[in-house]
Amino acid sequence: MKDLSKIKGKIRDIRNFPKEGIVFKDITPLLADHEACAEAVEGLAEPFQNNPPDAIAGIESRGFLFGMLLAMHFGIPFIPVRKSGKLPYEKISHSYSLEYGEATIEIHTDAVWPGCKVLIHDDLLATGGTAAAAANLIEKLGGVVHGYSFLIELEFLNGSENLTSAFKHSLIRVK
Ligand code: IMP
Repeated sequence: MKDLSKIKGKIRDIRNFPKEGIVFKDITPLLADHEACAEAVEGLAEPFQNNPPDAIAGIESRGFLFGMLLAMHFGIPFIPVRKSGKLPYEKISHSYSLEYGEATIEIHTDAVWPGCKVLIHDDLLATGGTAAAAANLIEKLGGVVHGYSFLIELEFLNGSENLTSAFKHSLIRVK
């Protein structure tokens, strides 16, 4: 993927959201542009084209958006990884620390089969805590983390250091 300018131009910085001092990467302009979205899916899929995963796990909620499109692209199942209390069927949970407090995410027990190669996708990699928690759930069910996929990586937070050694791909890197 050579030219990312169209995609980059559709991601805007919102200062002091959701709280003072945070610069939030807002992808809603990208979602409004189907051509830019198609380019993003192509760019996200590219490194996995010759060795595709068996399933895509998308993390609630913005990880659902391109996660589902990636699953459609590869013709494989999409697995929702959701915040606590949202999934209706039998599930397992994992709790992890946030800057202030704790978060819990969950996955259905029938979403991953033993040896299933799962690509974890989220819109943004910050500290890596959320993606690491998703990896924990997949491994607990006997799955294999095939890789990590992000639309945006905030490189200065070194989140990739908190993830397992599986292949990592971020379409847009913010230094
Ligand atoms: P981490 O667990 O610190 O890597 O944070 C990643 C999670 O926080 C992802 O699920 C993102 O959706 C969310 N997140 C953190 N910062 C931003 C942002 O600037 N824009 C959009 N999502 C963000």
